[in-house]
Amino acid sequence: MQRKQRLLIVEDEVAIRTGLVDVFVYHGFDVEFAEDGISGLDMARSGRFDLILLDVMLPGRNGFEVCESIRQVDREQAIIMLTARSADDDVIHGLALGADDYVAKPFSVAQLVLRVQAVLRRTRTSASEERTIRLGKDIEIDALNLCATVKDAPVRFTRREIEVLQYLHDHSDRPVPREELLNKVWGYARHMDIETRTVDIHVAKLRRKIEEDASQPQHLVTIRGGGYRLMSGH
Ligand code: CA
Repeated sequence: MQRKQRLLIVEDEVAIRTGLVDVFVYHGFDVEFAEDGISGLDMARSGRFDLILLDVMLPGRNGFEVCESIRQVDREQAIIMLTARSADDDVIHGLALGADDYVAKPFSVAQLVLRVQAVLRRTRTSASEERTIRLGKDIEIDALNLCATVKDAPVRFTRREIEVLQYLHDHSDRPVPREELLNKVWGYARHMDIETRTVDIHVAKLRRKIEEDASQPQHLVTIRGGGYRLMSGH
């Protein structure tokens, strides 16, 4: 997918933080930052970041606490801890709490960028290994090429439509709330009425493309009070 990778940097030391922001902006990332553990956790909870760089020694709440709190609500969030020392204890503790990787200070910036890219590659391939989304017997969607055959007829999708489908497909074991789609697919932090409508409009367009009768959806269904769910098994 072509959108910029979203990175959250939680680091209280100004020099390191501004240095990191500059480097990752230079490498094409969409970067936001927090200066302490409390606001860092707040931002992380929005779920809109592809990866979080999390310092251990932070005012408010330390990096371990922040990591643990993120994991309680999001098992898939990619996190790299910045440990103050190469202390093995810190490393083991951080990984035990669910960090994907760690980088010990002082670190080489080039190394860190490589680690970030490696973790993102890993999370991306595990999330979107299936390039073909099958719905029932009649629909085969090629997520890479933004097209499908629906009852032997060709259909084209926008990239955003495919991103919505792919996200619902990756989480088809449950209904996905609109707010979650806004966070994960659109990258919006807060939901407003107008943005929630954006999701509904995309779902309506998708239904016209994949449903036999868009008013009686069989594949992309609405779960009352729960959000949208893709029924892959039909
Ligand atoms: Ca620190």
